[in-house]
Amino acid sequence: MHRPLTGKVVIATHNPGKLREMQELLAPFGVEAVSAGELGLPEPDETGFMFSENAAIKAHAAAKATGLPALSDDSGLCVDSLDGAPGLFTANWAGPNKDFAGAMARVESELQKRGVGADGNRRAHFTSALVLAWPDGHEELFEGRVFGHVVWPPRGDQGFGYDPLFQPEGFTKTFGEISAEEKHGIDWSQPEPQALSHRARAFLNLAARCLPQRVG
Ligand code: IMP
Repeated sequence: MHRPLTGKVVIATHNPGKLREMQELLAPFGVEAVSAGELGLPEPDETGFMFSENAAIKAHAAAKATGLPALSDDSGLCVDSLDGAPGLFTANWAGPNKDFAGAMARVESELQKRGVGADGNRRAHFTSALVLAWPDGHEELFEGRVFGHVVWPPRGDQGFGYDPLFQPEGFTKTFGEISAEEKHGIDWSQPEPQALSHRARAFLNLAARCLPQRVG
């Protein structure tokens, strides 16, 4: 049985880009969202071996600390020709200074080292695991992926993180070149809305099961 989310939720992230996207996705449901940063919650160590495990660690820690339901996202970029790297270590590749220009350059340099140039196999996907956790330990997990390829050089200055590096399948623009709304890709007026980004795809699954009513 899925548990409905009503009232207030803590968004268990310290990443401003993710926070903005999760707030945008929640907005049509009239759920009040506060962030882990606003509440001064610490960032737990991400010791899991899967995106879903790390998402669970973050959501349970925030739910326990606040007594409120908490929503977390663990996500990353997986490049086929790099055997799925940076994967779970996507954030780490940017280092403590969160240097995403450097992180994107590292993806390219690793591809070059393996002889993957402009015409090589540059297929990649973003993946997102969203976990909703309640203070009593109840947990809901939803996952989403978007497939495409990594470009070089990066293009666009919208979004966050590796967005300028990733061009989704069927598109001529990277995530860095499209608006947040286009990246979510959800048309709520449709009877069965679809989504584009990994996070929005995971969120649609969550909404279908845990968010009973759309108000906007
Ligand atoms: P974590 O989930 O906190 O371990 O970090 C996820 C990493 O993946 C961060 O470095 C993000 O910048 C990156 N990432 C996750 N989702 C996206 C996205 O939608 N666009 C760009 N980068 C992303």
